[in-house]
Amino acid sequence: MKVLVLGGGVIGVTSAWYLHGAGHEVTVVDRQAGPGLETSFANGGQISWGAGNPWAAPGIPLKALKWMLRPHSPLVLRPRLDPALWTWLFSMLANCTPERYALNKERMLRVSRYSHECLVGLRRETGIHYDEHLTGVLELFRTARELDEAGRDITLLKRWGIDCHILDRAGCVAQESALRPSQEKIVGGLHFPGDESGDCFQFTQLLANLAMSRCVTFSFDTRIERLEANGDRLTRVVTDKGELTADAYVLACGSYSPLLLRPLGIRLPVYPVKGYSVTLPLTDAAAAPSSSVTDATYKIVITRLGDKLRGAGTAELAGYDLSLRPARLGAIKHVMADLFPDAVNQADALSWCGLRPMTPDNPPILGATTYKNLFLNTGHGTLGWTMACGSGKILADIVSGRPTDIDLKGLTLARFS
Ligand SMILES: Cc1cc2nc3c(=O)[nH]c(=O)nc-3n(C[C@H](O)[C@H](O)[C@H](O)COP(=O)(O)OP(=O)(O)OC[C@H]3O[C@@H](n4cnc5c(N)ncnc54)[C@H](O)[C@@H]3O)c2cc1C
Repeated sequence: MKVLVLGGGVIGVTSAWYLHGAGHEVTVVDRQAGPGLETSFANGGQISWGAGNPWAAPGIPLKALKWMLRPHSPLVLRPRLDPALWTWLFSMLANCTPERYALNKERMLRVSRYSHECLVGLRRETGIHYDEHLTGVLELFRTARELDEAGRDITLLKRWGIDCHILDRAGCVAQESALRPSQEKIVGGLHFPGDESGDCFQFTQLLANLAMSRCVTFSFDTRIERLEANGDRLTRVVTDKGELTADAYVLACGSYSPLLLRPLGIRLPVYPVKGYSVTLPLTDAAAAPSSSVTDATYKIVITRLGDKLRGAGTAELAGYDLSLRPARLGAIKHVMADLFPDAVNQADALSWCGLRPMTPDNPPILGATTYKNLFLNTGHGTLGWTMACGSGKILADIVSGRPTDIDLKGLTLARFS
């Protein structure tokens, strides 16, 4: 079958990889000059299938109000007359109950855990390297209250089969010795030994190159203007370079997916949640973490990527605005300097922002639409890198009419109808 994958971020590229593996003739279309140049470009780098939680969590509405009043806040809301923002926000708040949180965590975990298995298989098959670290992820807490709250979730995590250990301050330093100079700032942490980290952009580029060498076609610098349908089938994709047709279409345009679907009468509850990152060359490798840590108080991820250190975080609700706000970047730099004061030279910062394609409940949206030959692989929000390989494999199975390896209940567009 001829399949067009719309979008060449990490989700589009993994979709193309597995679709080709399933025997299809695949073309990827993207407006950028290469793969992974939008939200997949400089994310936090965590493959946190164990540590990754829904952001829609009990207590978040109150915490969000407090955060917005403090400096270095992890959350920024820029109020605007945008019905999509308010609909998304109210729906997200409705997901902050303990019952919805447990349901959404299980759904995300189902994809993330499977995705990790697919990534391990892909590594074995291709030998791909992307500055990966396979030694786990450490979540750090600055107050005893936060650590106690997180510790209470351990029983739930164990029930879901997630390996996780509570560490005191000394345990955190034993795990990441570069924390020694700043250890007074933290009280303890949670270590997730099964989680990993690595450079999502490097992975996306290398996988795209491998796919090209296996005859997957990439049409870069090609802007998709609209999708056209007749009856219950998509008939063509209109781009600034002409029309494209296929037997099946996979929409993987991240935060821009809803804009392409709206004219077809499909409401996709995905909103762009802006995040920032700062990437710095290491000046002293021994003063940097060996893998990835999350400052749970400031909600900032700090990840070692080869000879660089990246800090990433912030949730800014500001529509499709891609301006780099110095205050947000300053918050990330502050946390990096606070925890790893001698690791980097802050003057050489590469500053970036990207739009997380977030659903209000947080799991992604995979599979069928009302159009028989149009499939979705989008809405991966905070965990697109973590979920990429599994989502790509699931999509390839669905498009090929094969049973998927995991149950798709609660992971399709049908959950919003
Ligand atoms: C600050 C930050 C930190 C993050 N940290 C992590 C992390 O630690 N771990 C994790 O798992 N995830 C993380 N994420 C989330 C992750 O980066 C995203 O979920 C993931 O990159 C989404 O991939 P995507 O392919 O869906 O979107 P994208 O990478 O944005 O790809 C979509 C593609 O569609 C193309 N496109 C869109 N519209 C059109 C059009 N009209 N015509 C042609 N092409 C079009 C774009 O050019 C783009 O290449 C983070 C995100 C941010 C912002």
